[in-house]
Amino acid sequence: MTATARTHASPSGDESPPTFAPGAHVAVRLPLPLTDAYDYRVPPGLTLAVGDFVHVPLGPRKITGVIWGKGGGGVPENRMKNVAARLDVPPMTVEAMAFVDWVADYTVTPPGAVLRMALSVPEALEPAKALTAYRAADPLPEIKITAARERVLAAAAEGPPRQAADLARAAGVTPGVINGLAKLGALTACDLPVFAPPEPPDLSRPGPVLSGDQAAAADALSAAVSDGFSVQVLEGVPGSGKTEVYLQAVADTIRQGRQVLVLLPEIALSAQWLERFRARFGSEPALWHSEVTQAQRRETWRHMAAGRVDVVVGARSALFLPFPDLGLIIVDEEHDSSFKQEEGVVYNARDMAVVRAHLGAFPIVLVSATPSLETQANVDRGRYAHLHLPGRHGGAELPDVDLVDMTKAPPQRGQWLSPPLRQAITETLERGEQALLFLNRRGYAPLTLCRACGHRLQCPQCTAWLVEHRLLQRLQCHHCGYQMAPPPKCPECGAEDSLVPCGPGVERLAEEVAALYPEARVAMATSDNLYNQRTAREFVHRIENREVDLIVGTQIVAKGYHFPMLTLVGVIDADLGLSGGDLRAAERTYQLLYQVAGRAGRAEHPGRVVIQTYMPEHPVMAAIAAGDREAFLAAEAKGREDAHMPPYGRLVGLIVSGTDEAAVDAGARALGRAAPQGNGIQVLGPAPAPLAMIRGRHRRRLLLKAGRGTQVQPIVRDWIRRAAIPKKVRVQIDVDPYS
Ligand code: ADP
Ligand code: ZN
Repeated sequence: MTATARTHASPSGDESPPTFAPGAHVAVRLPLPLTDAYDYRVPPGLTLAVGDFVHVPLGPRKITGVIWGKGGGGVPENRMKNVAARLDVPPMTVEAMAFVDWVADYTVTPPGAVLRMALSVPEALEPAKALTAYRAADPLPEIKITAARERVLAAAAEGPPRQAADLARAAGVTPGVINGLAKLGALTACDLPVFAPPEPPDLSRPGPVLSGDQAAAADALSAAVSDGFSVQVLEGVPGSGKTEVYLQAVADTIRQGRQVLVLLPEIALSAQWLERFRARFGSEPALWHSEVTQAQRRETWRHMAAGRVDVVVGARSALFLPFPDLGLIIVDEEHDSSFKQEEGVVYNARDMAVVRAHLGAFPIVLVSATPSLETQANVDRGRYAHLHLPGRHGGAELPDVDLVDMTKAPPQRGQWLSPPLRQAITETLERGEQALLFLNRRGYAPLTLCRACGHRLQCPQCTAWLVEHRLLQRLQCHHCGYQMAPPPKCPECGAEDSLVPCGPGVERLAEEVAALYPEARVAMATSDNLYNQRTAREFVHRIENREVDLIVGTQIVAKGYHFPMLTLVGVIDADLGLSGGDLRAAERTYQLLYQVAGRAGRAEHPGRVVIQTYMPEHPVMAAIAAGDREAFLAAEAKGREDAHMPPYGRLVGLIVSGTDEAAVDAGARALGRAAPQGNGIQVLGPAPAPLAMIRGRHRRRLLLKAGRGTQVQPIVRDWIRRAAIPKKVRVQIDVDPYS
């Protein structure tokens, strides 16, 4: 990924886009996986401009598209169809259109598929009409209550009235259940209230008095805000005040009348971030993530397009929202791998955000305690500016890190806490402080095994084991969502009482902790119980109010939280992410451990971190224990450079998939035979993908390696064109793959 965007159209905001009179032919880009735009004729009485949203006929359907430019010709006049209507919404900006084209070109995806992300809320383009919402009837009529109905009524009792689809999603039922309850009078229909735009931020409120380092960084960002495109890397240990610093640049941008986009990973859990924002600006920003209801999306989209929104905080798809005049992007936790979208259009939102900033000629801030190696390399090459906050705000110490060698100090059989970690927990509890035990595994046990025959319970549709969730009394596949009740006997040999859980998940760890510390109040923190903003907010408040002594959590707690009384972090299985031969395994493990460690001792109480590992000699563990990030980075960078791996080389992954295994193999072999050669290009594979089957689709993988300066997209396009790939087989292209 390079910062210098290669763009076809270099937009400049002042020129008004070309218009087309009746009879003219226009190219209309449709939100379908199509490479080309389709030609239509401008009907009498209508003048259209580039960027206008229109309805056009497509076969028997009417579909929404965007005027992309002049018609390409080639369609005879008598077969040319008229544009049906122009939609009454502000047009797409030239920048947004250039961005769609750029992303499509870079990711080797049809531009229509990228446009679809920008038109993710088709309702927003239609004239507003009243929508029906439902709330629980009061009093409830006498009806038969099933588990599904009970979930719906519980969900309906919570918060404002919601549309049937949203209610169904919240309760995990089909819309039919909602309709049934409405017919029985258990749900009452009403008009959905209109969502007001968010309150504008109050820019007159004073921010905190910044320390010398913070003020220097904030001033640099303020200067950047009025100075066109630049990439600013804001690096600082957790708690050093990065958020406070960039909020100042947010305020500066709003003052200029432009909009700000803040991209955060795992947005649903940013409850604390939102409270920080409210504390600073007295209002909440617009939110854009998977939890936002369809009706809210529609309103937010319209408010945004009309310029009524100053700040949007969102997950990666927020990049494609209709900002009239975007002036700043912040990517917080820029190293986080959840910015990579792995399905549909495969893209890294951080990298595409840099492109968006370049196209719009405004600055972007990449924020992290542990910038990715890619970002670091761009700093080293002088492409990105680097701002550093060396210390924690208020001078709190970085925690001491101790490694526990699990081969020398093993836990008791069937347990997971080593004696040194238990000792540390006991001391922490005795001081009345809080501890976090970190294990990046949901559920009770990652594997269930038959003691009699050795059979392992596997997902029928994926190459994956079923994970026991004891609280739910289910076995679940974490890849496709398949689930089943725990079988009473082994499905293979029929032996009874022979199935045993193997290995720990957080539920099992919580069980051990509860037995060892019966007095302690234990709280779990996983995506299973912190699944939305409300649950996350409640969790945060319980910790802050000291209603919890021990937290047992997955990576969901590793990010961004600030708990003053949390002084011990115990990492149960630090080696978990290191297996699997992933290019970024070491880097990611380092980042995760560093972040988890950063949760300890963030206020006046000093913190301590105990890391359990079977590989205390591993460079990642040694660097974490010594607090020597520089050394780790240098070693990791050297390893990648020697192997010509990113960021010192380019990779493109091709995943060939389909339900017919023979066809998939044939397709993969065809690609193997057609592999490009020369120019330092190397193709590895085909080989079974790391997960050889997901959701019943077989997967094979090829990997193209090229030098850093190579433009890989034309090579890949040509490669796919030359290979004879069976029809029912899909080839997914992953430029700069992560896994
Ligand atoms: P980071 O984003 O680097 O983790 P934060 O911006 O969240 O750091 O700051 C950590 C804590 O310190 C927050 O509670 C924040 O409000 C506080 N803080 C940071 N800088 C200052 C300051 N200059 N004055 C007062 N409080 C500050
Ligand atoms: Zn599965």
